[in-house]
Formats: sequence, structure tokens, C-alpha cells
Amino acid sequence: SIPLSFFAGIGGASREGVLVKGSNYLETLANTKYVVFDKTGTMTQGVFEVNGIHHNTIENEKVLEYAALAEAYSSHPISISLKKAYGKEIDKNRVSDVEEISGNGVVVKVDGKEVAVGNVKLMKRLNIEYTECSHVGTVVHVAIEGKYAGHILISDRLKPHAKEAVAELKRSGVKKAVMLTGDADTVAKQVAGELGITDVYSELLPADKVSKVEELLSKKGEKEKLAFVGDGINDAPVLSRADIGIAMGALGSDAAIEAADIVLMDDDPLKIAKAIRISRKCIRIVY
Ligand code: ADP
Ligand code: MG
Repeated sequence: SIPLSFFAGIGGASREGVLVKGSNYLETLANTKYVVFDKTGTMTQGVFEVNGIHHNTIENEKVLEYAALAEAYSSHPISISLKKAYGKEIDKNRVSDVEEISGNGVVVKVDGKEVAVGNVKLMKRLNIEYTECSHVGTVVHVAIEGKYAGHILISDRLKPHAKEAVAELKRSGVKKAVMLTGDADTVAKQVAGELGITDVYSELLPADKVSKVEELLSKKGEKEKLAFVGDGINDAPVLSRADIGIAMGALGSDAAIEAADIVLMDDDPLKIAKAIRISRKCIRIVY
């Protein structure tokens, strides 16, 4: 039978906006010593602001228009931000042959022309010569019919409690905070630096995130548990692989909420340390 204090623990957590899917997760949570974070939408707001558009072969407005149309069917935070910056209705009749390559971007046809929108990885994959860019923030490259059209500079912001969330975890006895991201190294290092995270791995594909977590799992002590925290856009597999998967409930995807063991209803990373404290309290009552 399930001890009464476990119900109290789940109840207490839910009052804090932390949905724990089963009493067994409280024990895992209480022993969490490694917390691995995704970046976009987890530690950052996942709402990108367009800072600049640089054209190469066509004018700025066209670069943004093609990018927004190409992103018509994607629900990635970058896609949502580009469509918002474009600001006009997306005519899906102009869009066909949609392909989204996770951790890279999208390749689709707009007005019958092949449009590629994504990062350096995508440009290399398509053998498109791109312009290097030193912007500290995410760079979205755009190519049309195999020719480089320009890039859009966008930037994200930290969540208000992101830094405090890392500090609180360390205070509550978590040994290591790690950040994994599919984004570029410069952005990853900058964000990690602001958060006080020294272990940071960038430019990872969803499968690379799983391997990284497996590597960390193999190194830790048997009783030490590892939690992965993500928004589920490109990280549902790693959410299931960790000892405990924590997903963002508000901005997060349905796949993430499904794959996770714990859901943070208000997307506040500070709630992780709170949930750990609640779990430890009820484990102490039981033993
Ligand atoms: P994170 O690990 O930070 O959550 P993702 O794995 O979701 O990032 O994406 C990694 C990178 O892949 C993004 O920073 C972006 O460069 C590129 N990317 C992924 N999806 C898209 C998209 N729909 N449009 C443009 N770029 C994308
Ligand atoms: Mg993500």
C-alpha cells in the first residue's frame, strides 16, 4: 500500500503547481543529485525577438516573408516567433512539400521554390554557402532554391527565476546542474554563464541529448538520481530516458507532458527545488 504521507506529498506539490504522476517519483525526486536542463523554453522564455534581418540576394521583407511561410507548419518556438514578426496571415496554399529536420530547421516549397530556414547545420547539410555571423543570439539562415538569401537575428531571454532555480538546487544539495541544447555554442555558453552552469553541451541533436544523459547516468552513484527538465520540443526521448523527466506544462508540447513523470504547470524552473524539498520531507516521514 502507498503510505499516507505520499498522498500528502503529491497534494502539497500540486498546490505549488507541480503535478507528480505517481508516488514512486517522490522517492526518485528526493534522491536527485543531477539536474540536466534543456535551454530553449526551459531556462529561457522560448519567445524570440527579431533583432535584425540581413539580406544577401533579396530584400529584408522578402527574407522574413519566405522564412515565415516556410515555418507555416512548425510549432518550434523559433517558428512561432518568426511568424509573429512577419505579422501577416500565412497563406498555406503557397506552402508545400514540408519537411522539418529536428535540431536543424525546415525545408519546404514556397510558391514552388525550395526554401530552407534554419541553422548552420542545415546550410552545411544542403551545401549552401552562408555568411558567418558573430551575433550573440540565434541566427536563422534562409536559402531559396539552393542560394543563400540572408539571415535573421533573433534573441531569447532568461526566465525570471532561471538563475535562482539553479542556485536553489545547489543549496538543496544537488551536485551538478548541466545544460544541453541544440542551439549554437556561443548562445549556449552565454546563457549557461548567466545561470552559473559550467557543464554545458551545445549543437546537440535529440539523439545526442539522449547519449549525453546516458553518459551522465553511467557515471553517477547507484542511489543518485538524474532528472531531465525540458519543454519537449525535440526532447521527448531524453525526458523518458532520465530517472525522472520534468516537463513544462504551459508552453510545453503534449508529447512532453505525456513523456514526463512530473509536470511544472506554470513553467517555473524554481519549482524543481521546491518539489525536491517536498519529496524529501515526505520520504523522511515514511522512513
Ligand atoms: P534547444 O535544445 O535549445 O531546445 P532545439 O533542439 O529545439 O533547441 O533546436 C536547435 C536548433 O535547431 C535551434 O537553435 C535552431 O537553430 C534550429 N531549429 C530547430 N527547429 C527550427 C525551426 N523550425 N526553424 C528554424 N530553426 C530551427
Ligand atoms: Mg527545446
